[in-house]
Amino acid sequence: MDTQGKLDILSRDAQYDLSCACATNNPAEHRRRGNDGSSWLYPVTTASGGAGIMLKTLMGNRCANDCRYCPLRENQDFRPVALGAEEVASFFYDLQRKRGLIGIFLSSAVLSSPDKTMQLLVDAARILRVRYRYRGFIHLKVIPGCSLSAIDEALTYASALSINIEVPSADHFAKLSTDQDYQRDIMAPLHYLSGQTAVGMPHAKVGISSQFIVGASDEDDREILSSVSDLYSGLGVGRVYFSAYQRGLGEASIPGEQVAVKEPDLFGAETSSSHLMREHRLYQAEWLLRTYGFAIQELPFLPDGRLSLEKDPKLMWAEANPHRFPLSVNRASREDLLRVPGIGPAWATRIIATRRSGRICSIHDIGMGPRLLSKAGRYLTL
Ligand code: SF4
Repeated sequence: MDTQGKLDILSRDAQYDLSCACATNNPAEHRRRGNDGSSWLYPVTTASGGAGIMLKTLMGNRCANDCRYCPLRENQDFRPVALGAEEVASFFYDLQRKRGLIGIFLSSAVLSSPDKTMQLLVDAARILRVRYRYRGFIHLKVIPGCSLSAIDEALTYASALSINIEVPSADHFAKLSTDQDYQRDIMAPLHYLSGQTAVGMPHAKVGISSQFIVGASDEDDREILSSVSDLYSGLGVGRVYFSAYQRGLGEASIPGEQVAVKEPDLFGAETSSSHLMREHRLYQAEWLLRTYGFAIQELPFLPDGRLSLEKDPKLMWAEANPHRFPLSVNRASREDLLRVPGIGPAWATRIIATRRSGRICSIHDIGMGPRLLSKAGRYLTL
């Protein structure tokens, strides 16, 4: 099978993991891409606001671990496919020269052992850096359970590393995997990575991200977002992503082939679409924590610890805090403006810039259209 054929299969098998941890600032970008399950090229928005295409692939699909939510877990009956380090490096290098790709994201199922898998990822990155003198973006997934020396090697070549935390606690993790230990295989490497990339350390420029699987265990949104808050404030993680558990993806992963992936018997009776909406609400709430200055205690959780699936969390917060509104467009601080439903950093900046050149006397002075006005208007006054 040629490299492109392998990439097609591996991208279908990675459908369960399409939250796309690819350096984007726009929450709308986090909606799942590649729904046909066939694309290993992803449109991304870079941290600096640019746009481009990234190659994202697994190196191999047959996993030695037993995560119950994952169609790639051990003992599943499907065609194993693996890329070699040389193969993926040369394929990517040629493609990025022809099509101007902005980077590569390499992940993998655990192939025989965590360290051997890490070696494969690191070898591909090293070939790109040393042989091809590639200076662009390389994101490597840290394989759970790998050694600290494997992380050190990855730090040498990667622009960004990620470790999937999956769930907010060891108790939840124990319900999903018996092969792995939450503290030893996930939290210890994450703490190590955090120390190695702290301000003033040699690898301070390497970004760290992580990801939760949503809906595979019975954790609530408060637990997930409290854990997110700790990752941001305590461990220097730059971004956290969410990937909704998708029932039945195992069966759909290789069209036209007989696959014997048994549907995991997980918690609750929620549908995949409600998991996707939950993923979307988590992104909205995470955005409030990371960009809008909300504290975890301010997020509008329902009595069961979940976010509402029906309403945007920022709107829920505004409706629960009528004493904070209306805000004067001419006097409100940037921090307060960011609390208004519909007003994001760009609009807050625009309002403040406009009033520097004179009092805002009409909503038309700042060019607010009817759509935004219908969301924000009742929370603002002139
Ligand atoms: S380690 Fe990753 S690829 Fe392997 S079963 Fe768990 S989630 Fe799936």
